[in-house]
Amino acid sequence: MLTTKPRGTNDIMPADISKWYYLENVLRRVAKQYGYSELRTPVFEHTELFQRGVGETTDIVEKEMYTFTDRGNRSLTLRPEGTAPTVRSFIENKLYADPQPTKLFYLGPMFRYDRPQAGRYRQFHQFGVEAIGSCDPGLDAEVIAMAMDIYSRLGLKDLTVQLNSVGCPQCRPVHREELQKFLADKKDRLCPTCQGRFDKNPLRILDCKSKECQNLTAGAPAIAELLCDDCRKHLTKVQDYLQAFGIPFHLDPNLVRGLDYYTQTAFEIAARGIGAQSSVGGGGRYDGLIEQCGGPAIPGIGYALGLERILLTMEQQGITIPTEAKAQVFIAALGEKAQLQGAVLAQKLRQKGLVAERDYLDKSLKAQLKAADRLRVQYTVIIGEDELKNKQALVRDMNDSAQIGVLLDKLESYLAEKIGRGSNE
Ligand code: AMP
Repeated sequence: MLTTKPRGTNDIMPADISKWYYLENVLRRVAKQYGYSELRTPVFEHTELFQRGVGETTDIVEKEMYTFTDRGNRSLTLRPEGTAPTVRSFIENKLYADPQPTKLFYLGPMFRYDRPQAGRYRQFHQFGVEAIGSCDPGLDAEVIAMAMDIYSRLGLKDLTVQLNSVGCPQCRPVHREELQKFLADKKDRLCPTCQGRFDKNPLRILDCKSKECQNLTAGAPAIAELLCDDCRKHLTKVQDYLQAFGIPFHLDPNLVRGLDYYTQTAFEIAARGIGAQSSVGGGGRYDGLIEQCGGPAIPGIGYALGLERILLTMEQQGITIPTEAKAQVFIAALGEKAQLQGAVLAQKLRQKGLVAERDYLDKSLKAQLKAADRLRVQYTVIIGEDELKNKQALVRDMNDSAQIGVLLDKLESYLAEKIGRGSNE
């Protein structure tokens, strides 16, 4: 136990961290270009927020939450998603008093007691955006376009956008009734979970993973056929904008997302041919959520993507992420006096903005040069007793192995000029 991580979690190792930095940089840059500011909420919240915000009959709330009682006897839950916490913070900090819409993004770990497999973990990372305060269908399309923009900048190919409308409090009850009528004589054959959903939330039956339930719901009335005028118009406008943006999409009348708060626009983006966990992101509109969580009646739309899933898809599609050299200069010092000089030089170079590394294990010159090679540095500074006597060091260009002597007090400026200040920052 002491040396194994909990099931479904991952160590992000130093060898992989540059991929994460790269991805996070792209996400932050795109978010900024589309006008979203970062919000960092706590990793745990009051359990009630998710029960109310995500929905009692969702898989997440029914069986996937990491819920615990703290020492003050409060029920808390590690956040399984980012929308409810964002909405909670939006209300608590009265961001609705600012000019609308409020555009927020988050990036961080989420927790779900899911069955772990490739691309599905119990702790995973999501990037998500929430635009609160506008019901403009152009914003729905823009959120989808932003997601596609992110994927294309990362080089991802073969993505499909599935789009649907899940209706609103006006037309959803009609669909619910039709669905119950359709399933009434099949109810006994539904899985136990769906039998429970039949009265509480029959729409979720359409999203069941069981083959038997999927067979029983084949041919069920689709919400898309029963939309009210407002919802139908909204969906048409979202499509108009998507077409104008040049984003191909498929209408999927059976798309219902795993969270209850969605109204109207619901969408999912999947990568073709990467296996079971093909969803690389999804989102939708949640016009009732802010009010349901105790805030004013204002609409919102959001989207989330999984970072592990994106990195996995990039790997499967053969996209390589450029990795940086670990250091720019290596200082190979031989003997006690030279080691002291070398340590001081490393400090000075770092303070000048360069990335400098040195030997701490009293290795031979050959072994130190090997270490420098492994770090892919541009220059190695060699300081030995002889060099010290002449108050100079050898600077070796690792590209062509050419070596020249440089006076110790000129080393910093020589290297800074050669490398360019801060170029590895
Ligand atoms: P959701 O919040 O369920 O709509 O999920 C949004 C995105 O988060 C999905 O498209 C996945 O990319 C990612 N995701 C969801 N659940 C997991 C999980 N258990 N492990 C890894 N990624 C996940």
